[in-house]
This record gives sequence, structure tokens and C-alpha cells, in this order.
Amino acid sequence: HTKESGRGTRMFYEPGMEGQPTELLQQEHLLREAVFQGAFALHYQPQVRVADGRLVGFEALVRWRHPVRGLVGPDEFIPLAESRGLITPIGRWVLHEACRQLKAWHDEGLPRVPVAVNLSAIEFRQRDVVGEIAQVLQSAGLAPQYLEVEITESALMQQADHTRTTLQALQALGVAVTVDDFGTGYSSLAYLKRYPLDKIKVDRSFVTDTPADSEDVAIVTAIIQLAHSLQLQPVAEGVETAEQLALLRRLGCELAQGFGIAPPMDAQRAREWLRAQAE
Ligand code: C2E
Ligand code: MG
Ligand code: MG
Ligand code: MG
Repeated sequence: HTKESGRGTRMFYEPGMEGQPTELLQQEHLLREAVFQGAFALHYQPQVRVADGRLVGFEALVRWRHPVRGLVGPDEFIPLAESRGLITPIGRWVLHEACRQLKAWHDEGLPRVPVAVNLSAIEFRQRDVVGEIAQVLQSAGLAPQYLEVEITESALMQQADHTRTTLQALQALGVAVTVDDFGTGYSSLAYLKRYPLDKIKVDRSFVTDTPADSEDVAIVTAIIQLAHSLQLQPVAEGVETAEQLALLRRLGCELAQGFGIAPPMDAQRAREWLRAQAE
């Protein structure tokens, strides 16, 4: 009963699937078991400086070690996790694992770069999300400056009071905040000046057809300018070609991430990347 979505991925859960509960219940059961066993893995995608290609950090991306299907990507189980109250323990696992891994690399004497972790809107809305982050950092022995969190603009638009308090607490703690998938949410721009933010990620959908699509070039240009005017660092995501990278360099976009630079890699391969930086 899985359904093919536009991008050709198999979805476990979609609104309207309530009529066919069997497979859904089975996947929910498997996911619960995965949470209990910690059957997840993190892959790490390098983020580099456009000017010279130097590594500036990693983004941690979660995968589910599915008993039948192997590694399953987040787009296929995060929505199910969110609707079944499982995103909180999964998010906690991700945070712990990312901090633990970074600390292990630091202890090996590898270059000290930060790791970015994605927070879902539900995690971000939790009352004591900053307290929990601080606790994880402390138990991992990782300094807060090596952790960043990525939050979508739609998550930032909810509950203005909570958002302000939370972002201020993150800033006080020393954890940087990135607006993820910028430009795809339905939102006012006012929040960009109201809240303490550090980076803006230009959504992949705007980058993909550049430089051929002049409208996308216009949008990417505008987002980069907006970011600079507000003292935020722009990050282009989904960079796949040398032409895209050349465009970003011309536009003065500081940071980039994408398959054309490096794909998300398991911890062992990410470590090799990190080690190569030290040479
Ligand atoms: P995102 O945060 O926007 O992450 C970037 C996604 O784009 C990743 O997919 C990455 O593999 C993919 N990507 C990177 N470079 C390229 C490229 O050049 N071309 C193309 N076509 N794709 C590229 P992934 O790993 O499947 O993650 C999808 C989304 O799942 C993430 O989007 C993020 O919103 C969410 N996610 C991932 N890990 C976590 C997590 O630990 N917690 C939560 N709550 N959400 C997560
Ligand atoms: Mg992200
Ligand atoms: Mg993104
Ligand atoms: Mg995206």
C-alpha cells in the first residue's frame, strides 16, 4: 500500500491513508522498535566555503536501518514519526549521536568543525528544547560552538513568543541557528530581523535549474543579497554542477553544499574527508 510520490520515493504515510491501516500500523510498529533499539544511522554531508572549497562543517542527516529495506531516508519516515509521537526520541538520538561523533573526531585530533542537526517543528516547539540541547552537549563533552541547528522557516513562524525565547536561549548558549529550505515556506520576512539567526539556506529547488533558468538565478541572487543585508550567511544547498558553483562564487554566496561537492557520507567516509582537510 505504499504510494509513489512525485520524486519517485515510496512514502509510508500520507494524509488520506487512514483507510488502509495495515501497512501503516506495521511500519509504525517497526519504527517504534527502531526507536527502542536505536536502529538509525547518521550520514554527514560536508558544507564548504565557495571561495576555496574548504570544509566549514557537516550536516547530519538521519537514516533508518530498516530490517527489510536497508537504509531508509528521512523523507520516508519523519512524517510518520511526527504523526506518531516518535520524532522526539528520534531527534534526541540524532542530537546525541551527532555530538558524540563530533567529540570523538575532535579527540582524535581531526580538524574541529561544527555539525548541523535538523530540528523538526515539533521538536522546536517543545518547552525545554534548549535545556535538552544543553544537556546533550554537556554529556557529550562538546562545546556549544560546534553545534548548529537547522529549522525550517515554517517552524520559525509558529508561536512567535516561544520562537523568540528559544532562539535567544540558543544564542546565549552559543548554538548557531540556520533557516532551512528558505523561500519555500509561507511566511513573512519580518521574522528575519526579529530573531537572532546565523545562516540562511537557499532551498535546493531554486538552485537546481541555475544557471540556465534566469528566474531561478534572479531568486537565488535576491536571497543572497537579502541574507547579506541582514548580516546572515547564505548557504546554497543542492549544488550539483561546476556551473552552479561558479554562479554562486560570482554572486558572493559564502557557503555551499551538494552532491557536486560531496554527498552525505557514513561516519567512516566523512572522517576521511575530515582527515584530508588536515593535510
Ligand atoms: P534538508 O535539511 O534540506 O537536507 C538536505 C537534503 O538534500 C538531504 O536529503 C540531502 O541528501 C539532499 N541533498 C544534498 N545535496 C543534494 C544535491 O546536490 N542534490 C539533491 N538532489 N539532493 C541533495 P535527506 O538526507 O534525504 O534529507 C531530507 C530531509 O529530511 C532534510 O532536508 C531534513 O529536512 C530532513 N531530515 C534529515 N535528517 C533529519 C533529522 O535528523 N531530524 C529531522 N527532524 N529531520 C531530518
Ligand atoms: Mg537541513
Ligand atoms: Mg535544506
Ligand atoms: Mg531542502
